[in-house]
Amino acid sequence: YRLVVLGAGGVGKTSLVARHVLGEFTEVYRPTLEDSYRQVVQLPDGLFQNIEIVDTAGYHQFPAMQQLSIQSANAFFVVFDISNRQSFDHAKHLLHVIRCSKGERSTPSRATLIFLVGNKKDLAEQRQISEEETNDVISEFDDCRYIETSAKENVNIEHAFNEII
Ligand code: GDP
Repeated sequence: YRLVVLGAGGVGKTSLVARHVLGEFTEVYRPTLEDSYRQVVQLPDGLFQNIEIVDTAGYHQFPAMQQLSIQSANAFFVVFDISNRQSFDHAKHLLHVIRCSKGERSTPSRATLIFLVGNKKDLAEQRQISEEETNDVISEFDDCRYIETSAKENVNIEHAFNEII
């Protein structure tokens, strides 16, 4: 199964994945082209499953790559920064892109699961997006949930990964 992490540049995609995969956080901003991590996880039914986590470019220079990532994914984290409205607008755009490109193709057994992730929860005083606003957005989509995280303070990261896996 492939979990693809999408979102505008600087929202914390690499930090979320690094927190989960490596257990670390860094303040240094390192733009990503595409990094992929493989894990074997044990599911609640006891079976082991290969999971590939793909951290994608937050920029628009590579639309073909983004399209490929979307087509090959079973699940998505669509990440924005709760203190940055532009990143939320971009996340909404990505949700529509995912819906348009997956749309009719997903079968029930391979349905596309999407988590909208509001990261940088620790920056609560600078919040620009309310939870109501996010609920309005996800209610338009099937199989979509909203979760708030802080990669910096390690809030909800394992919960988000465990739930989606
Ligand atoms: P990406 O471009 O989406 O992969 O973003 P990065 O993971 O590279 O993070 C961009 C910047 O935001 C870095 O300086 C991170 O240290 C910072 N950052 C990431 N997550 C958080 C968070 O939860 N809270 C705060 N305050 N900063 C964060």
